[in-house]
Amino acid sequence: MPDKKKALIVVDVQNDFCPGGSLAVAHGDEVIAPLNKLMKEFLDRDEPVYKTRDWHPAQTRHFAGFGGIWPFHCVQNTKGAEFHPDLLDDPRITIISKGIDDSADGYSGFDGTNLGDLLREEGVDEIWVGGLATDYCVKQTVVDGVRKGFKVKALADTMRPVNVNPGDGAKAMEEMRNVGAEIVGNEARAAGAS
Ligand SMILES: [Zn+2]
Repeated sequence: MPDKKKALIVVDVQNDFCPGGSLAVAHGDEVIAPLNKLMKEFLDRDEPVYKTRDWHPAQTRHFAGFGGIWPFHCVQNTKGAEFHPDLLDDPRITIISKGIDDSADGYSGFDGTNLGDLLREEGVDEIWVGGLATDYCVKQTVVDGVRKGFKVKALADTMRPVNVNPGDGAKAMEEMRNVGAEIVGNEARAAGAS
C-alpha cells in the first residue's frame, strides 16, 4: 500500500533574490504564485513542506571582497534575508537555513543542514523542488537530492535562473536531467526565457 511519501522543497524565495533585492533574479517573484498553490496542496494532504533560505554571516568566502563572486545577499536577520512577503507562511512548514558556514557557499539545501535526515525521518522518498535560482541553489538541491537516493521532480514552472552567463539556466536543466531528475513543466521559463 502507499508507503510512498513526497515532500515539497521551496528553495530561497527571499527578498534579495526577487526584483528589488541585492541579487535579484529576473522574474523571480513569478515563482511565488505556483509555489504557494503547491505548498497549500501539500499541506492539505499532510505532506511535508520545507523552505530553504540563504542565511549568510556578513563576512563569508561566498561574497565578493572575501574571496567569493557574489554581492552581499541574505545576510542573517536582515530584510533581504526574509522570505518574500507574498510567499505562503504556515507553522507546519519547516525552515532550513543554509550558507551559515563562512567558508562554504551553501548552494544546496542539503549542504551543512539536517534536511536529508528530516526527510528520512518523515519517510519521504520523493521530493519536488522549485524556487530560486535554477542555475545555483535549485540545481544543487536537485542534484544532491538525487545523489542521496531520493526520486526528484524539478518543477520548471516554479524556478527562474540568475544567468550570470547566458545559457546557464538551460545548462542547469540539462544537468538536472542528466543526473536523473525528472523535469516537469515549462523548461524555457526555468532556463530564463520570459
Ligand atoms: Zn548565497
